[in-house]
Amino acid sequence: MEKLLEILRNLLDGEPVDIEHRVNQHGINIATGRAYLAHDGIIFTRMCWDNDTHGFGTCQCQSHNLWRDYQIDTKELLFLIYKLIKDELEQTKESAKAEKALTRLINELS
Ligand SMILES: [Zn+2]
Repeated sequence: MEKLLEILRNLLDGEPVDIEHRVNQHGINIATGRAYLAHDGIIFTRMCWDNDTHGFGTCQCQSHNLWRDYQIDTKELLFLIYKLIKDELEQTKESAKAEKALTRLINELS
């Protein structure tokens, strides 16, 4: 629950939150997605999943930007937070509580 509140607090304070991570081929955990609240909605910024810069693949990202912005809705944001908490705090009581709360929220939005 602590983690969920921290993420929501940061977002509401206008702070970008690294919300999606992947382990690259060197075993390093890299933030591949970041979310923030803009005046006209929620922006999710995803890094090219095949970029060479962060040790994933062979893409030099020369024909496109390393990052790309998407507008997402509340449900998608909550789902990203849900996955983040699940990955980070797997099998702790805290994550079970946060997972339940998020599942309820996501279901209410369906
Ligand atoms: Zn690329």
